[in-house]
Amino acid sequence: MTILATGGAGYIGSHACVSLLESGYDVVAVDDLSNSSAEALRRVEKITGRELKFYEADVCDRAALEKIFREQKIDGVIHFAGMKAVGESVQKPLEYYRNNLDATITILEVMRQFGCKAIVFSSSATVYGSENEYPYREDMPKGTCSNPYGWTKSMSEQILCDAAKADSELSVVLLRYFNPIGAHESGLIGEDPKGIPNNLMPYITQVAVGKRKELTVFGGDYDTPDGTCRRDYIHVMDLAEGHVKAIKYAMEHAGAEVFNLGTGVPYSVLEIIKAFEDASGIKIPYRIGARREGDLPEFWADASKAGNILGWHTRRSLADMCRDSWNWQKNNPKGYEE
Ligand code: NAD
Ligand code: UDP
Repeated sequence: MTILATGGAGYIGSHACVSLLESGYDVVAVDDLSNSSAEALRRVEKITGRELKFYEADVCDRAALEKIFREQKIDGVIHFAGMKAVGESVQKPLEYYRNNLDATITILEVMRQFGCKAIVFSSSATVYGSENEYPYREDMPKGTCSNPYGWTKSMSEQILCDAAKADSELSVVLLRYFNPIGAHESGLIGEDPKGIPNNLMPYITQVAVGKRKELTVFGGDYDTPDGTCRRDYIHVMDLAEGHVKAIKYAMEHAGAEVFNLGTGVPYSVLEIIKAFEDASGIKIPYRIGARREGDLPEFWADASKAGNILGWHTRRSLADMCRDSWNWQKNNPKGYEE
C-alpha cells in the first residue's frame, strides 16, 4: 500500500512518515519546502532504514499532482500540507485561504481523476471555536474561529465532507489535533520553526539552548488553576501513530468521520515550563506578559472516540514530550540548517 503524504517534510508529516514506513506502508511525500527542509526526509530514511519517494512541488499545482499520481500507484492520501501560523494568517488572509483551500480542492480533484478513495486530513481543535464546553467531543457543532487559519481548517473539513457525501466510495477522516510537541526519540527529526517560534515548546527549547533570552508567558490572570492557559499537549509520535490507524480505517470504510487526537489531560503553561526544567535540568527564565489575542483560557480533548473506534491510545507522558523536544533541540541547535 502506498500513501501520499502532502506536507510530508514538515513537523508532523515527517514523524508520520516514520510511523507509516515502520508499519509497512510505502510512502510518497510531496512538499514545496516552503516551511521545511528535504533533510527531514533523509533523516526519516535513516531512522527507518527504508526509502521514500519525494517530489518537491506545490500541491495547488494540479499538473504536478497529476504527474505524481501517474507515476505512483497511490492508495491513500494524508494531507498535512498547509500554512499554519495563526498570527500570520490574520495579516495574510488571502494567502492562507488560497493555499490551504486550493490545496484541499486540488487534491480531491486529482484523487477523483485517478480513482483514489481514501484521505486523512490534518485538522485542528481550533474548529471547535470558543462556544463549546470542554472537553471537546466530535459530536459538538463546530464553532466560530478567531482567525483565518482556523477558518481554512473548518472550511476544508466542510469541503471534504461534501465530497464524501457526493461520492459514496470516498472515505474522509478528519483528525483534529490538539497541541503536538516532542520529537522522534532518536533526536534526528523534530520541530524546526523558521524565525521566532509562535508556539510554546519550540520557544522554550530555544531559550534552553541559548538562542532566546526569556520566555514570555501570555497571561497570568486567566480563570484557571494557576492563572495561565491550559492545553492538551500530545507527543508528536503518538499523533503520528494516530495517522497509521486513521489511514487504515479510511481504506476500510466509506463516508466521513472525525476524530480528536489529544490525551484528554490539560497542562498549564507553568506546568510545561516546570516539566521541561525537570527533563532538561535547565532553568527557563520567564516573565508573565500580556494575554495573546485570540487565546482561549483552556481546552482539551475527549479522546475516547479514537480509542473506541481506531484503537488508538497515547502512550507517552509529558516528561517524554519534554525529554524528546530537548533531545532534538540540543542535538540540532540550528534545526536542519547545518
Ligand atoms: P509544517 O509547516 O511543519 O508542515 C506543513 C508542510 O506543508 C510544510 O513542510 C510546508 O512546506 C508544506 N506546504 C505548505 N503549503 C504547501 C503547498 N501548497 N504545497 C506543498 N507543500 C506545502 O506544519 P505541521 O506542524 O507539520 O502541520 C501539519 C498540518 O497539521 C498542517 O496542515 C497544520 O495546519 C496542521 N496542524 C498543526 C498543528 C500544530 O500545532 N503543529 C495543530 C493542528 C493542525
Ligand atoms: N504561550 C506562551 N508563550 C509563548 C507561546 C505560547 O505563554 O511564547 C502559551 C499560549 O498562550 C497558549 C499555550 O502557550 O496558552 C500554547 O500556545 P501555542 O501557540 O503553542 O498553541 P495554541 O494552543 O495557541 O495552538
